[in-house]
Amino acid sequence: MRIQKADKLGLCFGVGRAIRLLKEAANKYGEIETLGPVAHNRLLVEQLSALGVRPVGHLEQARGKILAITTHGTSPAVLFEIKARHTRIIDTTCPIVRKAQNAVKELAEDGFDVIVFGDSEHSEVKGLLGWAGEKGVAALSTRQIGRTAKSSSRLGIISQTTQTQSAFLEFVRQLMGAVGCRIEEIRIINTLCEVVQDQQEAAAKLARRSQLMIVIGGSNSANTAHLVEICSPLVETYSVETAEEVRTSWLAGKNQIGVTAGASTPDEAVEALIARLKSP
Ligand code: SF4
Repeated sequence: MRIQKADKLGLCFGVGRAIRLLKEAANKYGEIETLGPVAHNRLLVEQLSALGVRPVGHLEQARGKILAITTHGTSPAVLFEIKARHTRIIDTTCPIVRKAQNAVKELAEDGFDVIVFGDSEHSEVKGLLGWAGEKGVAALSTRQIGRTAKSSSRLGIISQTTQTQSAFLEFVRQLMGAVGCRIEEIRIINTLCEVVQDQQEAAAKLARRSQLMIVIGGSNSANTAHLVEICSPLVETYSVETAEEVRTSWLAGKNQIGVTAGASTPDEAVEALIARLKSP
């Protein structure tokens, strides 16, 4: 049985940077709270929790003097509230998310209505909308934003960083069709994360030459879900959070197995999966 990893997979520089900043802060200050999980991966959250870095669900639940903003970033209103509480901030917002926040802010300041292609319940998207003030709306389909699109004369469009390129392009195509030539100006800013795009391309390439793909990552991780979406139409694909979830029956008769991992998956989790596949 041949087990092959995608050329690009797993822990991205944004999450790696956040882990380093949090470990340094934990060494210096001891206990640290993060506003939400540092990234959408249970194993990673558990690893950091053992070092004294623990998530809180809401700002009101924070009890410590130090609060970390996660890689997904947050809104200016939340930052203001944290500062008003005289709480020290460790900001681990990924630079790519920061770029998207700046794009939203500039579009809103320039008078555009801002459409964020993304999941309105995702913490990154909630944060991005905050930078648009009253002028932002999030949607995954043009049906969700019909009124905004039709009443606006100037539309700015960006994407949640971890969406797929093909889905973003399709959204923009449909939106252009919906607003027609009535619109005065449309500004599209590419805020997709290149790391994620590279991982998605590598996963598709590997899936095409595999008999089975296993995607490892957080069950609530958007980019892990997209890897599954990309591989599933190409080959039999399973998604797991840990190596223990792999079923021996999946491997029967498979000689070529591909492995990929979401951007917040610890390296140890990927290596444990490879070891599990090697000894079914
Ligand atoms: S997936 Fe991309 S945007 Fe998200 S934390 Fe990693 S590098 Fe940053």
